[in-house]
Amino acid sequence: MSILVLNAGSSSLRFTLFDKQLKELYKGHVDAIGQKHCSFRHYLKKGEIDTTIKIKNHDEAIRFVLKKLREDKIITDLNEIKKVAHRVVHGGEKYVKPTRLNAKVLKDLDKLSALAPLHNPANLLTARACQKMLPHAAHYAIFDTAFHAALPEKAFLYGLPYALYQKEHIRRYGFHGSSHKYVSTEAARFLKKKNLRLITCHMGNGISLAAIKNGVCLDTTMGFTPLEGPIMGTRSGTVDPGILFHLLKKQSPEKLHAMLQHESGFKGLSGIGSDIRDLWAKPNSPGSKRTFGVLCYQMAKLIMSLTVPLGGLPDAIVFTAGIGENAHYLRAQITQELAPLKIQLDPTANRKNATVISKPKSGVKLLVIHTNEELQMARDLP
Ligand code: AMP
Repeated sequence: MSILVLNAGSSSLRFTLFDKQLKELYKGHVDAIGQKHCSFRHYLKKGEIDTTIKIKNHDEAIRFVLKKLREDKIITDLNEIKKVAHRVVHGGEKYVKPTRLNAKVLKDLDKLSALAPLHNPANLLTARACQKMLPHAAHYAIFDTAFHAALPEKAFLYGLPYALYQKEHIRRYGFHGSSHKYVSTEAARFLKKKNLRLITCHMGNGISLAAIKNGVCLDTTMGFTPLEGPIMGTRSGTVDPGILFHLLKKQSPEKLHAMLQHESGFKGLSGIGSDIRDLWAKPNSPGSKRTFGVLCYQMAKLIMSLTVPLGGLPDAIVFTAGIGENAHYLRAQITQELAPLKIQLDPTANRKNATVISKPKSGVKLLVIHTNEELQMARDLP
């Protein structure tokens, strides 16, 4: 028996096939679905392999992945896939546990698409298409918001009329749940301690931080949408809402939304691009310096603020995802901004992206842990 985990973005599809013991059998992704430069990359023992392909939509993308699994002799028959986990970004307040997908649940989840218009429609489209192709398998939705479901009211409410929460469910939800859960679990395993206070920093294209005590998330930086928090690749992060009203006098809500989502963050501030590697290639350019400065300062301020829900200093700060796992120069700069925590960074370990990057006498331990959202999703399956 094998388990397929699917993580669909608006124009991408990541997948991992696991065996019963949750050992990875095959892993890959289809990128730029529906575009000229659509590509398929898969990771086998030999390493990564890239191919350019023609794929029109998510339906074709799954069909392609299922064909590859057979062509590459990972499975001989689709019936071997017994369970499928679908990442669904927004579960609202109702869906806080992995949920078996049926027509009624899917219809209910459609309603939540309004809360995550950039993500949920692609997630659900993929789930529906996959259900048709693998009708014998049990399909489950795993929600990105679920890990944050225990946030107390004081952490999830905004200072808006309370009726907006009651009637329209406007509140902090938090995202990247599978990643925060995975790295916090791995940190506890690594430190051989169950009762831990952790601040986890997921720093990829999107960036979010979480305060986790004894495995329970008590607060997080993303909010009603994944726009809140520090600056990100192309997302603005938190801005004064007054700025939006000022800008709305001159531009449409759609244009403003597109600017906040796609033209801001590292890209907008640096004028170089959204990939931190392009900025690091020009470390002394004013655009890179300014972006690194703002990002590291904001990260440090948010880390300090998350000591409040933890009720004290964390046992460890965990860095993860593309930037968190690799950008040693940013981890070093963030630590410099965290003077109150009396952190002692171990520069050699940091440069090597080692698991422990702080010195033994550091005020707070610093860890780098590779995230694995797909494995967490497979672990969460009933
Ligand atoms: P993710 O969302 O976790 O896939 O992270 C994607 C982002 O991580 C990219 O846009 C890069 O900015 C960053 N990234 C990926 N690999 C590296 C690397 N080796 N060094 C620095 N940054 C990286």
